Amino acid sequence: MGSVTDRTCREWRERLGPWALGHGDAAERAAVESHLAGCVDCRAEAESLRRVGEALAYADIDRARARPTPSPAVWDRIEAAVRHDRRRRRGLLVAAAAAVAAVALGVFVLLQPPPSRDVSLAARGELTGNAALRSKSWGTEIAMEVTVHDGSLYNVWLERSDGSRVPAGSFRGLNDRSLQVTLASSLDLSETEAIGISTPEGDTVLREEVD
Ligand SMILES: [Zn+2]
Repeated sequence: MGSVTDRTCREWRERLGPWALGHGDAAERAAVESHLAGCVDCRAEAESLRRVGEALAYADIDRARARPTPSPAVWDRIEAAVRHDRRRRRGLLVAAAAAVAAVALGVFVLLQPPPSRDVSLAARGELTGNAALRSKSWGTEIAMEVTVHDGSLYNVWLERSDGSRVPAGSFRGLNDRSLQVTLASSLDLSETEAIGISTPEGDTVLREEVD
């Protein structure tokens, strides 16, 4: 038995898409399966297509995310297969596109961290201002505009949902003058429940929830 040429495999691969989507009559499916039985490369391709077809069928975000990302070539073949097949199932292309869009949107919404949060800071008699928290690849940047009534040192921290605190640096007050302070914490903004300011002695001056 001679090895299958690349050209022959290319022809087979155009038939793999409909096969992977469960289409084609018994003879067509049997023909594809008989080629797959003797061709390792096409079998790998078929498995990859089958997984994509499964992910599309379920359009389940977790399942889709758990699967390895198919190569662009695989997507091209799926798309070609769907186009080829739409005479029989006209709605499939739209349904597949909607499923892909739903998965993409779901993943986007789930993975996209909140990019920034604004928090008002007010501790009666001690401090007023606001803080803009921005999500960064290294953690969270905190741009504060703050007025304190003395020249004391203040420590700033971010708090996790379990109450543990991650330092974000410190600043010194300037006797009733407004300060622009940019601080940084390694805590991810998506894990940040609150921002707080303490004295060096550890007394909490202020704690504000980050929505
Ligand atoms: Zn082959």
